[in-house]
Amino acid sequence: MKHLARLWDKIDDNKVKCHVCANECLITPGNVGICRTRKNFDGKLFTLIYGSLISSGSIDPIEKKPLYNFWPGATAYSIASIGCSFRCANCQNWSISQASPSDNGKNGFYTLEGLENRRMSLIELSPEELVKRVVKSKAKTLAYTYNEPLIWHEWILDVTPLLKRENIKSILVTNGYSTPEASKELIEVGIDAANIDVKSMSDTFYKKICGVKSVKPVLETAKRFKEYGIHVEITNLIIPDLNDKKEEIKQLCDWVVNNLGKDTPVHFSAYHPDFKMPSRKRTSYRTLDMAYNIAREAGLYFPYIGNIHHEKGSNTYCPQCNHLLIGREGYSFTKIDITEDKKCPNCGYSLENAIIGEINKNRKDRFAFF
Ligand code: SF4
Ligand code: SF4
Repeated sequence: MKHLARLWDKIDDNKVKCHVCANECLITPGNVGICRTRKNFDGKLFTLIYGSLISSGSIDPIEKKPLYNFWPGATAYSIASIGCSFRCANCQNWSISQASPSDNGKNGFYTLEGLENRRMSLIELSPEELVKRVVKSKAKTLAYTYNEPLIWHEWILDVTPLLKRENIKSILVTNGYSTPEASKELIEVGIDAANIDVKSMSDTFYKKICGVKSVKPVLETAKRFKEYGIHVEITNLIIPDLNDKKEEIKQLCDWVVNNLGKDTPVHFSAYHPDFKMPSRKRTSYRTLDMAYNIAREAGLYFPYIGNIHHEKGSNTYCPQCNHLLIGREGYSFTKIDITEDKKCPNCGYSLENAIIGEINKNRKDRFAFF
């Protein structure tokens, strides 16, 4: 629904400049920003997707976000809207990320070639109605996911305090293209965790594949979130011939070690063909195994492999003695061997600051539907 936006300045001739993401769009009257979800009405900026959802929510394992070191085994009530600040040629969720909202936020439509007549109905919820549903579902966390949550800024700022009252954690699954002022508001309202997609360390990749200027704002967001106590995990989707070189993967791992810390989980994920890159081949096991080994050599404690079976890549090992602490097969646990006070049972190493929240060993709670 239409709602006055935050974080914009009025320039001359009724133009406005949006500071919600690092695109910092300059928007003339009657037009929308790059995300298509913020529109200038007579010199005032409005979001069109406040409380506009693609569905009333679904229950996912938190590992699907992916978050492995935050409330392991919890359920994540997952919600999405439409739009994105990027235009990734490989987007797996392009049917929502590349849609535009109508002016009242009740419908989505496409301007993509060949899809001009396609429409979708969006569900409207108030923050209170959403939180009631999350409480009823018994999920411990809520994840803003599938499309880009940073462009849902006002909605997230209103929902998060209500979730806090119910002791439900808030998670962003994001491209990280934030600004200092938008990040500050998200930190202050109390976002608990974020999975940030670092797609590449190269500005050329960001320009060519994602349609934005630089990786720099993404790295700054990750640092800022981590510094102010948000639990951060990184995802790197490895695409053959685009970002799969040993040097680039090493550069990413070194950056994480030096800027976020060795205990920051990094998920290397396998690409499968989608959207504007249907004929590019899938990421091989060999490449992902190489990434896993590079990460370990760089000193990262918790590298993970996603979207492909890898014998070690789903497991959590003790950083000190390599004891298997949490074994996983897909989104299920095969083993949990960690003390109640989060120590390695083999060497006593403390994981108190590395694995956040309770570990849900009760499978029945896990896939509770509502
Ligand atoms: S949220 Fe980002 S992409 Fe959307 S209008 Fe604002 S600056 Fe532009
Ligand atoms: S940032 Fe994510 S949701 Fe947005 S276009 Fe890229 S892959 Fe899709």
